[in-house]
Amino acid sequence: MPLRHDGPMTRLTGEVFKMDREKIIEQLKEIVDSDHVLYSDMDLELYSYDASLERSRPDVVVLPDSTEEVSKVVALAHREDIPIIARGSGTNLSGGTVPLKGGILVHFSQMNRILEIDIPNRTVTVEPGVITLDLQNLLLKKGFVYAPDPASQKVSTLGGNFGENSGGPHCLKYGVTTNHILGAEVVLNDGTVIWTGGKSQDNPGYDIIGLLVGSEGTLGIVTKMILKIIRAPEAVKTMLAIYESVEDAGNTVSAIIAEGIVPATLEMMDNLVMKAVEESVHAGYPLDAAAVLIIELDGMSDGMERQAEKVMEICKRHNVREVRLAKSDAERAELWAGRKGAFGAVARLRPSYLVCDGTVPRTKLPEVLKRVMEVGKKYDLPIGNVFHAGDGNLHPLILFDERNKEELARVYKAGTEILKICADAGGTISGEHGIGTEKLKEMSFVFTEDDIELMRQIKNAFDPSNIINPGKVVPSPAGVH
Ligand SMILES: Cc1cc2nc3c(=O)[nH]c(=O)nc-3n(C[C@H](O)[C@H](O)[C@H](O)COP(=O)(O)OP(=O)(O)OC[C@H]3O[C@@H](n4cnc5c(N)ncnc54)[C@H](O)[C@@H]3O)c2cc1C
Repeated sequence: MPLRHDGPMTRLTGEVFKMDREKIIEQLKEIVDSDHVLYSDMDLELYSYDASLERSRPDVVVLPDSTEEVSKVVALAHREDIPIIARGSGTNLSGGTVPLKGGILVHFSQMNRILEIDIPNRTVTVEPGVITLDLQNLLLKKGFVYAPDPASQKVSTLGGNFGENSGGPHCLKYGVTTNHILGAEVVLNDGTVIWTGGKSQDNPGYDIIGLLVGSEGTLGIVTKMILKIIRAPEAVKTMLAIYESVEDAGNTVSAIIAEGIVPATLEMMDNLVMKAVEESVHAGYPLDAAAVLIIELDGMSDGMERQAEKVMEICKRHNVREVRLAKSDAERAELWAGRKGAFGAVARLRPSYLVCDGTVPRTKLPEVLKRVMEVGKKYDLPIGNVFHAGDGNLHPLILFDERNKEELARVYKAGTEILKICADAGGTISGEHGIGTEKLKEMSFVFTEDDIELMRQIKNAFDPSNIINPGKVVPSPAGVH
């Protein structure tokens, strides 16, 4: 009996499938280096989770070294009708890399080469396993940047950023991942390798890259990418604006943009998160304030001073208590270390957290934040907020203890309610963390059954045998699992 993906949602590593699993493992060892095929109990357990609350083991993990190897592995999965799931660093927050129905997990840690830096054309060509920050650090030495900067950039991969259409603080001004991908090499459902896009800025025909970026590895497996790079800004000014009320901080965000200023970043953090950050990172945040904004301006030196003054004036108009301007690179790094370490820092408060990822029109921020806190009270759960305020992209962090099942049930209810509030406020259910498995049922908050049916048709066109990361992003029709 082959490893199948349409049975109940069980792990397929049980005795019944053992013979076939062994055969598959033998064949995988003929495709990739035998040390790059992992199947011990411990290995499978380690690959059974990501940064979401989902858990399920793969049957086997492979670490390919080239597109050719990926293509052969996918062709094998296609022949044997086995699920196949691409994985970067497994930091996604929605269950995107959890092998819900077992199968082959393809980990891209060996395919982490920067293949070309083409300064005249302002592109880089990379393999998917490159760590985001490694590329950014290398480019900065040459005076260039790859703009998308998820807070997880120290560990996230460019393949994972592609899969999730990741955003980050600088995406307010520069756009999210999809705005920076020019071309991609993709392995399709049966192992066929195609290229879509290239170094030119515009490509005729259907926008396949647009479909693939953010598809959470459900349409094909990316093996190379051509990314757009831009000149590093000549000047940067970073400030911390401190507020006595979340509402004033929220109103400042829309006021700055309404004035025609688009900062490079406009991030917000509330008191609960600041306290946790201070305990772990010591970034110098005020412990008695209700909220802070991290506002960063970048661009030409000329006019930067004037723009910073204008921003401070807007902050004052909205009752800011104090604006601290970073005076050196070290002070700037300190402010950012706090923001980037925020998710990790809250782990000091409770053992687990669920990050909700809703987006609202930025003028609705104060009202929606208030309602989020009411949800926390209703379900008796602490909620902290740290988020990309300029994009209206909220990240309420619901803190709890995963071992307490009753509390976990309340967390799920609270998370769903928060996303409904975002949708009802004219927003949506994901700004950047994707749908994965965790938000399948919430898709109906923003899409009609006809909308979702079109997505099923797209999935079916790319992956008719439903082997590529099955069970993610697009909910099954009622009654089908
Ligand atoms: C502390 C923390 C902070 C975070 N901050 C941010 C943030 O600021 N902004 C943000 O957007 N996200 C953030 N995230 C979420 C996460 O880091 C991003 O989604 C990131 O892009 C995932 O990268 P990864 O390498 O871990 O991908 P993975 O989690 O391994 O994979 C993500 C998705 O991409 C698919 N995928 C991976 N590789 C490929 C490939 N080669 N071909 C096709 N599909 C592929 C996977 O199947 C999966 O669906 C954060 C997460 C944490 C834990």
